[in-house]
Amino acid sequence: MSSTNTDVELAEIEVVKFQIVKKVAYFALAVHVLLILFFAHIGAITLAITNLFSVAAWASGIFLITQGLNALALRVFCGEVVLHSILVCATLGLDVGFQFYLWTISSMLLVDYQLKLQRAFIYSISLILIFAALYLFFGDVSYNYPYAEYLIYINITNIIIAGLPMIYAFVYIRETSISQRQALTEMAAKDHLTKLYNRRFAKKLIIDMRQRCVESDSKMCIVMGDIDFFKKINDTYGHDKGDTILMSVANAITEYLSQKDIIVRWGGEEFLIILTDTDESAAYKRIEQLREKIHSLAPCPNDPKISISMSFGLIEWRPLASLKDTLHQADIALYKSKHSGRNKTTIATPEQDYMNNFKPV
Ligand code: GH3
Ligand code: MG
Ligand code: MG
Repeated sequence: MSSTNTDVELAEIEVVKFQIVKKVAYFALAVHVLLILFFAHIGAITLAITNLFSVAAWASGIFLITQGLNALALRVFCGEVVLHSILVCATLGLDVGFQFYLWTISSMLLVDYQLKLQRAFIYSISLILIFAALYLFFGDVSYNYPYAEYLIYINITNIIIAGLPMIYAFVYIRETSISQRQALTEMAAKDHLTKLYNRRFAKKLIIDMRQRCVESDSKMCIVMGDIDFFKKINDTYGHDKGDTILMSVANAITEYLSQKDIIVRWGGEEFLIILTDTDESAAYKRIEQLREKIHSLAPCPNDPKISISMSFGLIEWRPLASLKDTLHQADIALYKSKHSGRNKTTIATPEQDYMNNFKPV
């Protein structure tokens, strides 16, 4: 993933985030309208009047979001919540539970990536201190309005409503960090163009697979494949077409083989295939079919005259052989395919060892 891609993804996340913030803001706006009626009904006139300002604050925040002024909108929402919490606690006491919204805002500020960490941290701590101060200053304010018998339910409702955005904030952090970790692992393991495993990552996979095959006493074959005359394809049709062909070949191999096989972009136009639970003759049949399939591909549908072929070298991993030796033998078999006309599959033979001095393809 390039930094531009990362920037685009972060921008997309920000757009989604503010769509959610906007929905929450509409919800808060509706709640504050109801609160005006409720406060007026119970005779808390000061609170009813101040809620008019709250409604105005939420409405102007929504307007700011529609104007793209997201950061400013968040500040307005935070300011409203802080002032509202203090005022309600001072008037109705702490049993109503409006102080819990300070916790919510405190956690939301930390998820606001437009705020520098140090600043977000200072604001969050300040909100927690205000929360504590409310108990100090208004701890003995008692509720002297109607519906006192429902106080506990109002308190519980506020706790739940205040708690939900906090849970959402943590789910959001969890999900973005998991998906970023997956993207990083993918980036480290896969080749950018073909989306196949890259050579560095594949070695560990192969060794693990080898271990499993030895334990289960099953056969495993290593196949080295190389596109024929690829340089000529690049020279004739251009590097971009070359890239398209590489992707088509990679897709064809992936579609043809099974999930448990390992496919690696070993080098430029060279692919390594590990066939598990497969002996030499079965592997030969499968690779021959794959070779024919690749030869019959029309890798560039707009350019039907472009045809490609691949040569393969195949070896069954012998019991005590190392990965390095086995790869070398597969390379020599590939070399034989190339030098006997290409578009072929050659099985490595023990006699080929005399060719060990040949330079691999
Ligand atoms: P042979 O049949 O002997 O394999 O011939 P060849 O032309 O395929 O082999 P050679 O090694 O001479 O050339 C390989 C070419 O593959 C040269 C290189 O530019 C091209 N190539 C390697 N990686 C890429 C890539 O990612 N994209 C494109 N378009 N070309 C690549
Ligand atoms: Mg080649
Ligand atoms: Mg090559």
